[in-house]
Amino acid sequence: MKQRRKSKSIKVGEVTIGGGAPIVVQSMTKTDTRDVMSTINQIKELEEYGCEVVRVAVPDSEAAQAIKDIKKGISIPLIADIHFDYRLALMALESGADGLRINPGNIGEAERVKVVAKAAKERDVPIRIGVNAGSLPRAADPELPIAEQMVDAALKQINLLESLDFDLIKVSLKAFDVPTTIEAYQGIAKKMPYPLHIGITEAGTPRRGVIRSAVGIGTLLYEGIGDTMRVSLTAHPREEVIAGYEILKSLNMREHGPILVSCPSCGRTEVDIVKLAEEVDGELLKIDKPIKVAVMGCVVNGPGEAKDADVGIACGKAKAILFKKGKKIRVIEEKDFVNVLMREVEEMTG
Ligand code: SF4
Repeated sequence: MKQRRKSKSIKVGEVTIGGGAPIVVQSMTKTDTRDVMSTINQIKELEEYGCEVVRVAVPDSEAAQAIKDIKKGISIPLIADIHFDYRLALMALESGADGLRINPGNIGEAERVKVVAKAAKERDVPIRIGVNAGSLPRAADPELPIAEQMVDAALKQINLLESLDFDLIKVSLKAFDVPTTIEAYQGIAKKMPYPLHIGITEAGTPRRGVIRSAVGIGTLLYEGIGDTMRVSLTAHPREEVIAGYEILKSLNMREHGPILVSCPSCGRTEVDIVKLAEEVDGELLKIDKPIKVAVMGCVVNGPGEAKDADVGIACGKAKAILFKKGKKIRVIEEKDFVNVLMREVEEMTG
């Protein structure tokens, strides 16, 4: 794994992004921002799953004003997502937004960005320049590869903000196409010092989008690129947070709750290992401490294959061996599989 790219650090509310800080997991609400209670409830649920920064859409002035009340009910920093109308950015700042995300492709003239930057600077609020492949400003050279056009669009906005003595900058360059996204981030990473928010845009439903995101985000993280991330899914945003942490845990970059090791099962399996693993997976969502748990389909290879798990079961016919760190502890009955395993997990994490 490559060394992490050195980036400047910025603060979004109390959360540090960049400068070697742990990679921050973000999500975005899917409620109507004007519906304050529903938005607060969704953000509170995201907080429980470990979301560290949340973004809300600001389509109109009512939504911009709602931020004031939403902020009173939540504990994590809130970023206002602005398209088209720079005046909404100003209103969101007045309402106490901890960060702004603007898209250079649709925010309009430089003059408008200047006004927003001035107001953000007065409040020490960072701005994310969020370039999307699907909404690029007109390129100087439309023949350039999309990744290069994305880099150019971001650099133009960075130069503009820097010329205004504004450096609380975060940058994202997202596309649906994974190679385009990777090339764009690789391109910009060498050209400016600001932290990078990484992700694959419109990645799709959980079945497809988690894989697309994991390939894109995972490749970038392995390359040392990325300071914060969002997995964009057509699903409840809690799935985005869960997926984000799973990507980070897969690369040993963050500890967050349990890791589940489960074997794929094979002709040796004598229990419904798929159902069992899913049940244990669901139970583990309630545990917030790091622990490695294994659900294995046979007593022959199970404990050995999962020897670095803290605790696990290796199933035979209607019975399983409970094991810890690959060592057999005792035999348990099928009806007790989940209960016994979870009791062990709770004792070890309690
Ligand atoms: Fe098959 Fe046993 Fe390996 Fe599971 S642990 S895949 S049941 S050999």
